[in-house]
Amino acid sequence: MTISYYNGNVYQKRSELTQMEGFILASLASGAILSPLALAGKSFEKAALKEQVNNTQYKDALLKSLEISGLKDKGVEIIPAQHFSHIYPIEAAGKNAFYNGTTKKVVINTEKMAVAGFHELGHAINHLMSKSGKFLQKMRWPGYAIAGLMEYFAIFSRTKPKEAQKSPTDYIEDNCGKIAFIAMLPTAIEEAIASRKGIQLAKKAGVDDHLIKNMKKVLKKAWLTYAGKAVLGGLAVGASRMIMDKFTRPKKIEDDSWLF
Ligand SMILES: [Zn+2]
Repeated sequence: MTISYYNGNVYQKRSELTQMEGFILASLASGAILSPLALAGKSFEKAALKEQVNNTQYKDALLKSLEISGLKDKGVEIIPAQHFSHIYPIEAAGKNAFYNGTTKKVVINTEKMAVAGFHELGHAINHLMSKSGKFLQKMRWPGYAIAGLMEYFAIFSRTKPKEAQKSPTDYIEDNCGKIAFIAMLPTAIEEAIASRKGIQLAKKAGVDDHLIKNMKKVLKKAWLTYAGKAVLGGLAVGASRMIMDKFTRPKKIEDDSWLF
């Protein structure tokens, strides 16, 4: 048994096996917490697929939206992914769409996913016509990087007991779940704004009310994947940290009289 001392207390170090058990449990918990995300993604794909029957109406309004929004004058283009399946296989298959701020291109299968195109134009509006929207977009990749880093902070073994003096790293480890959540928040917010602006555009372009309703449903499902990433991602990181703490922090020996 390895013994260590902090602030006059006696601690017993955890064995490597116990630490490994903690790591396995933390990984399992994290996987379980994140599992609804895959379901949310599938649910979005299904809802978007259902709207393919109305694609012609969405597509006409989408092309009109590009002009009436002023985005075309700002150099935004819609690239029909189905004609470039060698470059955009996922988008050509109608499983995704995106707006690239550097090239100002919306890449989307216009024969399958036009319903999602309004959301992508919403991203273009955020990028080119809104300071706060652009700021939130700039936070996206740093946010993902920070959240990814927190996944590592969540699985370190802790060699110091809870009562020991804290280092800056300890503060990060103690709050890694919250930090991961906050880091992903700007993206979730920007995604919601892009959808709201996209729906406004669709209304202006004359999309029927019942199709607007359907579009809202599709975009809400897409948004849930982002909101879920922030909330469940933060929870998964927090849970991993909690489990790792339990299994790796040195254990306080309450009754140390046997030592003397
Ligand atoms: Zn988006």
